[in-house]
Amino acid sequence: MATTVERDLPTEESRDLLALVREIATEELAPKAAQAEADGEFPREVFRTLGKTGLLSLPYPEEVGGGGQPYSVYLQVLEELAAAWGTIALGVSVHTLSCFPLAQFGTREQQERWLPGMLGGDTLGGYCLSESHSGSDAAALRTRAVRDGDTYVVDGTKAWITHGGAADFYALMARTGEDGPRGISCLLVDAGTPGVHGAAPEKKMGFTGSRTSQVLFEGARVDADRLLGEEGQGFSIAMSALDSGRLGIAACAVGIAQAALDAAVAYAKDRQQFGKRIIDFQGLSFLQADMATQVEAARALYLAAAARRDAGRAFSQQAAMAKLFATDACMKVTTDAVQVLGGAGYVSDWPVERYFREAKVLQIVEGTNQVQRLVIGRHLAR
Ligand SMILES: Cc1cc2nc3c(=O)[nH]c(=O)nc-3n(C[C@H](O)[C@H](O)[C@H](O)COP(=O)(O)OP(=O)(O)OC[C@H]3O[C@@H](n4cnc5c(N)ncnc54)[C@H](O)[C@@H]3O)c2cc1C
Repeated sequence: MATTVERDLPTEESRDLLALVREIATEELAPKAAQAEADGEFPREVFRTLGKTGLLSLPYPEEVGGGGQPYSVYLQVLEELAAAWGTIALGVSVHTLSCFPLAQFGTREQQERWLPGMLGGDTLGGYCLSESHSGSDAAALRTRAVRDGDTYVVDGTKAWITHGGAADFYALMARTGEDGPRGISCLLVDAGTPGVHGAAPEKKMGFTGSRTSQVLFEGARVDADRLLGEEGQGFSIAMSALDSGRLGIAACAVGIAQAALDAAVAYAKDRQQFGKRIIDFQGLSFLQADMATQVEAARALYLAAAARRDAGRAFSQQAAMAKLFATDACMKVTTDAVQVLGGAGYVSDWPVERYFREAKVLQIVEGTNQVQRLVIGRHLAR
């Protein structure tokens, strides 16, 4: 279902955009979500449809094929998509993250060559940072890119990659130099490059429609002109991308939490015990009041961080706070939604058990919530 959240949008164009997204969410996405997630099929066609509607390029400039929308508008679109179907919102967020290194750090020539194709809607991106031994400690990555004439020869295995094996391109962080963050570079890799393969999909607890897998690089030759930024700049590019990406995860979390709240309230108005609606029992009403407050607070926090980003101000600390708070709120709200529905909350005839399973991973991806606290703590210590 689309949410009924009242939104404060800056332009007529953005109001029309949100109305269109609600229509797509209600008519196209929500009716398919439960079955598609149960089947575990990656919904590639849905991304193609969204791409044609311009929803895979919203926060990027119009000159390079983007939608030219403020980040705050893009995030509210994500929130609406997440309320209807989490896998789709997460996929749009990851695709947007994967375009960021080229859009922000590529040369004009590189952008003109590749960005229109990446933002045009026919292709889907993946972001390759994590490896099995280097998750939170991402700077310890081992995938190597060795310069050989006009190419880099890439060897290594990336882990947990959203759209792994399904993406058309990867923003790849690989080691071109010394140990540690300064030896890492960012390459834009065509997924069709010989020697690049996606492994079998991971069997996940939630987001079962979203494809997550290892991506193997086995002697893959990547043209040297696909280096984004300078050699050795890859780690700071990766972190900069994650600052923006974390806001996307926060918006997904708010969308899922809103959907769980809406489902809980609707059920509690309908369900009767002891001769009255269960929403009229103070014990349950207070629980839902807390859920609603968490959702509102999380939304306000991500919008405040996005407003800083849109105004060109530093927002890294605020993005970490928004991701931390919104995903913890999502976990709490979805857990309580299961409680509101009682036994019905625990079975797949109602959507809240899916929201609950999806919430968990949002506390882990794009930096665990412990890592968000590290980021916030470092800002405080400066
Ligand atoms: C469904 C899914 C999709 C993903 N998609 C992508 C993707 O598209 N691209 C990508 O690159 N990665 C992706 N990831 C990887 C994700 O970013 C990592 O799982 C995450 O960064 C944590 O790394 P880890 O799993 O190795 O856990 P670890 O780093 O091993 O952490 C284990 C635990 O230790 C804690 N911990 C670690 N270090 C510290 C510390 N210094 N202080 C306190 N606590 C600490 C962590 O918070 C966590 O609780 C995905 C993961 C999942 C599950």
